Amino acid sequence: MIDFKELLKEHGIPPSLQRIKILEYLHDFNTHPTADVIYQALMNEMPTLSKTTVYNTLKAFAEKGVIVELSLFENEVRYEYNTTPHIHFKCIKCNIIYDISESFECLKNKEIEGHKVLEHHIYLKGICKNCRDSEE
Ligand SMILES: [Zn+2]
Ligand SMILES: [Zn+2]
Repeated sequence: MIDFKELLKEHGIPPSLQRIKILEYLHDFNTHPTADVIYQALMNEMPTLSKTTVYNTLKAFAEKGVIVELSLFENEVRYEYNTTPHIHFKCIKCNIIYDISESFECLKNKEIEGHKVLEHHIYLKGICKNCRDSEE
């Protein structure tokens, strides 16, 4: 069991109940949700929660390195709890984004054609395993 309250404190964020709930959601649902999805999921449980709070909270979390902000996807920002570098695979049929744990650590600090790589965000598109299975 992760102590989300402590985790936020460690990152210098005052742990309000709403902040803890948002972080908990990201931890429990590894689906790379948008701020809207998180708001829809939590609004019944927390009627005082506003969309703006969700947006601002996610921004603050990402700035402090608690979560990762992904803006790789067509004009929508998504968030995830998993801060270890990994590859994203988006299925063009079901729109699910999968985490692929294959690492391209070899790219880190590498020089390519004179450019020095500091970080990398790899984004693959295709047809996922489940969609391929149901096609057959
Ligand atoms: Zn799919
Ligand atoms: Zn991911």
